[in-house]
Amino acid sequence: MVFESVIGLEVHAQLKTESKIFCGCSTRFGAPPNTHTCPVCLGMPGVLPVLNKKVVEYTIKMALATNCRIASESRFARKNYFYPDLPKGYQISQYELPIAQSGYIDIEPEGKEKKRIGITRIHMEEDAGKLTHDPIRPVSFVDYNRTGVPLMEIVSEPDIRFPEEAGAYLRHLRAILQYLDICDGNMEEGSFRCDANISIRPRGAEVFGTRAEIKNLNSFKHVEKALEYEIIRQKELIADGDQVIQETRLWDPDKNITTSMRGKEEAHDYRYFPDPDLLPLVISDHWIEDIRKNLPELPNEKKERFVTDYRLPAIDAEVLISSRELADYFEACVQNINNPKQVCNWVMGPLLGLLNTENKTIEDSPVDTEQLAGLLKLIDEGVISGKMGKTVFDEMAKTGKSAKTIIEEKGLVQVSDVAVIEAIVAEILSEAPQQVEQYKNGKTKVVGFFVGQVMKKTKGKANPQVVNDVLKKALES
Ligand code: ADP
Ligand code: MG
Ligand code: ZN
Repeated sequence: MVFESVIGLEVHAQLKTESKIFCGCSTRFGAPPNTHTCPVCLGMPGVLPVLNKKVVEYTIKMALATNCRIASESRFARKNYFYPDLPKGYQISQYELPIAQSGYIDIEPEGKEKKRIGITRIHMEEDAGKLTHDPIRPVSFVDYNRTGVPLMEIVSEPDIRFPEEAGAYLRHLRAILQYLDICDGNMEEGSFRCDANISIRPRGAEVFGTRAEIKNLNSFKHVEKALEYEIIRQKELIADGDQVIQETRLWDPDKNITTSMRGKEEAHDYRYFPDPDLLPLVISDHWIEDIRKNLPELPNEKKERFVTDYRLPAIDAEVLISSRELADYFEACVQNINNPKQVCNWVMGPLLGLLNTENKTIEDSPVDTEQLAGLLKLIDEGVISGKMGKTVFDEMAKTGKSAKTIIEEKGLVQVSDVAVIEAIVAEILSEAPQQVEQYKNGKTKVVGFFVGQVMKKTKGKANPQVVNDVLKKALES
């Protein structure tokens, strides 16, 4: 039997607001434990939550960017469960009336066709705190700084069929959040977290199989690997005549396996009910339109513009738009030197290569846009060859000097003077009568040998184009 997998993802994105969702405490990461707390986020008796308007604004932004329908009236609900880092005994979330539903995003996994993934719903909720377990004593510590930090939960339809599609969906979703500037997308710090739901079914079947939910996924790679593992595990279970059980599983990145964590609770277990402390949330069309008007250019729009305006291959545009800062870097260079494809090649090749090895992001690139544009101008003008350019680029990254200075200091200027090259060519041809004879007998490949000799004599500084022209002329005469 041929199986296909069915995948749906739940993403929790931490919103970049200054203060928490229902109180004025700071959301800043890394403060000493329990210093960002107040009676509201500590769940003291007699306090009342007050909704942070920025949280709503940011969620509307995301809802618009993902083509969702925004509810003119939505509700907050209590999700009841006890957890030591959730002092109220319930989490304020949204349940039966979320702020946004029925959206989609279009993704283009590398080398595959465009695909539309449905967004079931987007809702707002508060985060829980953080527990640290003492490795030796039977003691746990609780830090309530994160309690009440705003989260947006984005639930996808079970439209995803392959692990790579899940990766592409998550990358795209994160890019949108970053373009909107509402979430920093840092997976390691937990500001962008994903739970992956997966089941398998015989290809062509109408009904879905039983799903497992995988938690603890803090990188795109882990999501893809965990899903690959789960597909195999579930297929084997079914092949053995067993059944997949609905449960929550944990990904173990060291052993590359998932393990059972707990049985999956059902929604009714949480005894959801509308939070009596918070009024229904009413959003005016006027506010929505105002936000829509001010949305920035989104990743897919930017990509299309790069393909049409700069005539870049879609594959290249996809890389450039993967982060807003990278796209801005590219465009700033193009402002200085009007050769988009050349800029694109240098950004995607040497620059990304350098950032990768130095484990840096584009924001702290050792080569800024003016430096790179300066270098490319000198290559365009023929002052140095592309190959020498790479040497200059590396030096630029190390020293921070401009291309011009490096070229002067190292005497790297390219020799393009026809008369100079003619003299060198004449010398080389007279020294190698045998090869000249071979050329005349039709063995044109020896041109490579002559070019090599010229480069040797000029220490690689001769302009390859001029060398070729001069050589051809000399050999044909
Ligand atoms: P819960 O909080 O109980 O996990 P949600 O509705 O928040 O429920 O999320 C369910 C997720 O699981 C959605 O992304 C949905 O697309 C996905 N899903 C539902 N049924 C299946 C299934 N049979 N196989 C794979 N994914 C599924
Ligand atoms: Mg879930
Ligand atoms: Zn507080």
